[in-house]
Amino acid sequence: MPTDTQSSTTDLIACHECDLLVELPQMRAGEKALCPRCDYLLTAVKPDVERRIFAFSLTSLLFLLFASVFPFLGFSAKGQERVVSLGQSVSILADEGSTLLAIVVLLSIVAIPSLALICASYVSASLISDRLFPATHRVLRFLLLMLPWSMAEIFLIGILISYIKISAMADVAFGLSFWSYVLFSVSMTAMVLHIDKRQLWTLIAAKVDHGH
Ligand SMILES: [Zn+2]
Repeated sequence: MPTDTQSSTTDLIACHECDLLVELPQMRAGEKALCPRCDYLLTAVKPDVERRIFAFSLTSLLFLLFASVFPFLGFSAKGQERVVSLGQSVSILADEGSTLLAIVVLLSIVAIPSLALICASYVSASLISDRLFPATHRVLRFLLLMLPWSMAEIFLIGILISYIKISAMADVAFGLSFWSYVLFSVSMTAMVLHIDKRQLWTLIAAKVDHGH
C-alpha cells in the first residue's frame, strides 16, 4: 500500500552543492549517483553495508572497553610519577573545578559513542537476520540523532594539543588505553562512513515488504 508515497519521497534527492532536485532510479549495491549539473556525489550504495556496520560496531565497542580499563596517560616530573585513566584525563583537560564540562566531555567521548554503537549493532544485526527485530526504525532514528554528538576525534585532537603544552613541564607517556582509544576512533569512523541514511531506510523498507 505505501509504494506510491514511498517512491516519491525516497527517490527524490537534493544536491548538497547546487540544490538541484534529482530523481534517482533504483540503485544496486556498488553503484553511485552523481549530480547531472555539478557532478557532486549524491549517494553511493555500498555493498554488504549491514555486515560491515555490524563488524565495525563490535570492534569499536571492544576497543572502547579496553580504553576504559587500562592506564590512559602517564606523567613524570621532578621524580614524581602519575598514571591516569581515560576518565581522569578528561577532568585534567577540563580544568580542575569544572565538573560540568568534564561530564559533558565524558558524555560525548564515551557515553554517546557507546550508545550509538549499540544502536548500530542492533540495526545492522536486524538487517542481517531473517526478520527485522522489534523497533528497528526507532533505533535507527535514535542512532542518526546521536551520531553528530559523538566527538571521539575532536577529543583526540584536544589530547594532542594538551600533550604539546604538558610535555614542556613533564614527561608524558601514552598508555595502552590511549592506543585503544585511537583504534576505537578509527573503527568508529569507518562504521560511520558506512552509514547512509537513504540506503538504510531502503534496506529496512525492503525487509518490511518482504516480510508481508
Ligand atoms: Zn549538483
